[in-house]
Amino acid sequence: MHKCKIAVYDRDTETLKFLKDFFKDRKEYSASFFRDVSGLQEGLSSNSRCAVIAGTNNGCLGETAPLAAGFPVVAMVEKDLTRGLSQVMRHNLEFYLMAPFHKDDLDYKLKVLRNRQNFSEGICSKVKDLEAIVELAYLMSSTLDPREVLDFMVKRISSTLEVNRCFIIGLTHGEKRYAQVVSTFEAPELKEFRLDLKKYPEIRRAHRIGRPVIVKDARKDPLMKPVSGLMKALDIKAIMVVPIVYRDEVIGSLFLRTTRNSRPFTEREKKFCQEIARAAVNPLYNAFLFEKLVKEKTRLERLSITDYLTGAYNIRYLYHRLEDEFQRARRYGSPLSCIMFDLDHFKKINDSYGHKAGDMVLREFAHIVKRQVRKTDVFARYGGEEFVLLLTHTPVNGALTEADRLRDLIRTHRYRALDEKSGVTVSMGISTYPDARVAEADGLITLADDALFKAKNRGRDQIILA
Ligand code: GH3
Ligand code: MG
Ligand code: MG
Repeated sequence: MHKCKIAVYDRDTETLKFLKDFFKDRKEYSASFFRDVSGLQEGLSSNSRCAVIAGTNNGCLGETAPLAAGFPVVAMVEKDLTRGLSQVMRHNLEFYLMAPFHKDDLDYKLKVLRNRQNFSEGICSKVKDLEAIVELAYLMSSTLDPREVLDFMVKRISSTLEVNRCFIIGLTHGEKRYAQVVSTFEAPELKEFRLDLKKYPEIRRAHRIGRPVIVKDARKDPLMKPVSGLMKALDIKAIMVVPIVYRDEVIGSLFLRTTRNSRPFTEREKKFCQEIARAAVNPLYNAFLFEKLVKEKTRLERLSITDYLTGAYNIRYLYHRLEDEFQRARRYGSPLSCIMFDLDHFKKINDSYGHKAGDMVLREFAHIVKRQVRKTDVFARYGGEEFVLLLTHTPVNGALTEADRLRDLIRTHRYRALDEKSGVTVSMGISTYPDARVAEADGLITLADDALFKAKNRGRDQIILA
């Protein structure tokens, strides 16, 4: 329990003796005695006092009143009682003691005063919590963005409770080892950060039991033993984890942490966080669901343009890009090259090693080429063991150099599905726009295909320009 701090300002020897005697036995108070008004002023500003006790005899009460706005004052009416009482009335004081003083009397008055303070503090914080929840309800009805709601929650918690860290973390379905930071107020750089829950035993426990976990002192709690070194290094004191539960499944949690000198979490703070965690269920669920949908959409889009076996683009995408790139090349007069590949004697590979091995060779071949080409180039499977590489902004010389490089790489590569000595060779035909024979995008492919046919006829493993 924290002590109630009392400032005493009195110059009457007898009163001082009484007060010193009184406070000596009362552990629930810590009294500071001030001899002059500047000392009192400093004492009142530097510490959160519960009350001021001031005497009426030597002008102390008169000096105290203007300084003590906001603090309850107890007057010690000593010596000249009439004068003392008139001071009490002038300053509108509710609490005073008349000489001769009795300890029980002072005890009682201080108790009443404290009870009243506790009561009004409780009301104030309840009002504050309610305000936060009303504000939250308003925000939730006015925004469609669940992340905004979650951001607001951590911001509000951080400003209402004294914490160093406040996160909302999310769990993907079935994932127990990692969590993702969805919202954070103090450390925006941690957003999207993946937490390895191995380092957070308190989060793991809260997720396992589905109820809040409160750690009073992270450096002493047995739960935190595996990470006690880290707790010491980071000066971490109290921790609270409140799980966010959607239909019996923990989908994330609210995570708060304080450092060294702060006090442990109170019952009121726990209740407040539980309210927030309850309100966070839908936004967190929606934020996650939304992201999952976006991810799924990107995945489907990618699938619809890639060849399933080799991971190269498919022919549909090739024609779509060819059209675009061709129009662009025509409009801006920039060269566009096309290399057509056909693996040599591929039937033999299938015949000697089997179709599965053939598939693996195709995959490895595509991998080699994909690794080499620029982001702006388009490498696609044209069909079977035939591929096309579109090189944007590339004249014939550039395409030839590129083709040479690729031919060497492919020839010298050792394929995992084949035995040590066997290799794969490829024939290539190259066409480049502008070319008088090419009027349409498709013409570029036809020309490269013709050149490829010549390369085959001339013995394979070679490059022919259209
Ligand atoms: P060349 O091109 O040198 O004239 O000889 P080739 O044997 O490569 O040519 P051909 O066009 O006669 O045969 C192509 C072979 O490629 C036949 C076909 O079974 C094989 N093939 C096509 N697509 C695939 C595939 O997806 N997987 C596997 N394993 N083989 C494929
Ligand atoms: Mg072929
Ligand atoms: Mg072939």
